[in-house]
Amino acid sequence: MRSAQEIWEAALGELQLQINKPNYQTWLQGTRGIAYQDGQFIISVPNAFVAEYLDKNQRSLIKKTLIGLVHSSNIKVQFQTGSEHPVPTTENTHHQDPSVRDLPAFNPKYTFDSFVVGGSNRMAYAAALGVAQNPGHSYNPLFIYGGAGLGKTHLLQAIGHTARSNSIRALYVSGEHFTNDFVDAVRQQRTNEFRSKYRDIDMLMIDDIQFISGKEHTAESFFHTFNELHNGNRQIVITSDRPPKSMPLLEDRLRSRFEWGLTVDVKPPDLKTRRDILKAKSEQAGAGILPDVLDIIAQQVRENIRELEGGLNRIIAYARLLQTEVTPEIATRALADIGGRTLPSGHITPDALLDAVSECFQITPELISSRRRDKQVALARQVAMYLLKQQDGYSLAEIGNLLGGRNPSTVSHACEKVAEDIKASPLLRHRVMDIQKSLRPR
Ligand code: ADP
Ligand code: MG
Repeated sequence: MRSAQEIWEAALGELQLQINKPNYQTWLQGTRGIAYQDGQFIISVPNAFVAEYLDKNQRSLIKKTLIGLVHSSNIKVQFQTGSEHPVPTTENTHHQDPSVRDLPAFNPKYTFDSFVVGGSNRMAYAAALGVAQNPGHSYNPLFIYGGAGLGKTHLLQAIGHTARSNSIRALYVSGEHFTNDFVDAVRQQRTNEFRSKYRDIDMLMIDDIQFISGKEHTAESFFHTFNELHNGNRQIVITSDRPPKSMPLLEDRLRSRFEWGLTVDVKPPDLKTRRDILKAKSEQAGAGILPDVLDIIAQQVRENIRELEGGLNRIIAYARLLQTEVTPEIATRALADIGGRTLPSGHITPDALLDAVSECFQITPELISSRRRDKQVALARQVAMYLLKQQDGYSLAEIGNLLGGRNPSTVSHACEKVAEDIKASPLLRHRVMDIQKSLRPR
């Protein structure tokens, strides 16, 4: 069987023929196939900006290409950021204790060292560290809850790293995975296998347990797993997006089990913590970003650390794309996408604009930036150029870059042409007005 990277290289060869060169270079060069398992194909991409772009614009093409190569009718494509060092697989874990070698690996980025501690997460951090260093004997279970992107998964995997380095058989699964595993086991009459997978371990970590609430049989199975592990002093760590008492569909007996140990929350980070996190991430990325720029992100993204990271990556990628320095101005512009379609100033992002144009003309955004010259595609492209030009702050060269590497004179010509055509054609006028309307803040 071919490795994920070999399959991905073949896919890139095909994609190169279907995507224009500037787009290919911007978005696909430097990507790697890192895993293909259980119908899931994981592609490593350099940053969150690229992940988001590919996810939005090229997912179906990539999926189709991969399906053609692996001769399977179904593949789930996932873009993963920052894995220049791919998640270790069983191949490079040979140095580990044999008893933990066959367990799935943790994300190497999610360690205690890389976790920035602040007022919003200090308790959770301390509890997680306690459990990692002294499993089964401090708090059992440890229940961590909080909103999306606040570091729950990070803490869970950090516990896993530490535990495993002490030869503790720690297993991490999502609530969703646990559910699917259980349902499959029942369907295929492999419940013994299921039992031993979840009970012959020293530590069980279930991420996003809210997923099983309301799923009666899965919750029941988890209840028994919980009891057995707990009775044997095996550590259990659970995360959820809400505290146990707010899980209405959870059986009381399970809820009360959760409250046996320690329940801690992670809150949205305060400004200082947001600054600290950004500083740490920018250093990790080897990008010397000015404190002023970090401050813009810290002020604008408040609720979610994943988005904080995303904001930083986006700014770095954006500046690279436009081949300029990372200035506060570039940062403000790059961040517009996070807040939705518009900046406070009413400035519209290129992505949002391309989406709106492609919606109106019923073609895909990648066609707009492609080399195709059919009438409809060419018109959509010219309209996109015209609308971008109307936004202050984009030079002809930038617009050309954003639309698949056109030169400034082509852009200038297109803008003049659309301005003329709008006068002559009510249909075109209405189309342009519709697009503008759809871009206004709601
Ligand atoms: P959750 O599971 O709560 O939705 P994650 O653990 O997936 O959130 O965190 C989202 C992203 O933010 C991850 O990339 C994680 O590494 C990062 N992150 C969260 N909290 C911190 C922190 N305190 N220090 C450093 N990075 C963090
Ligand atoms: Mg999570």
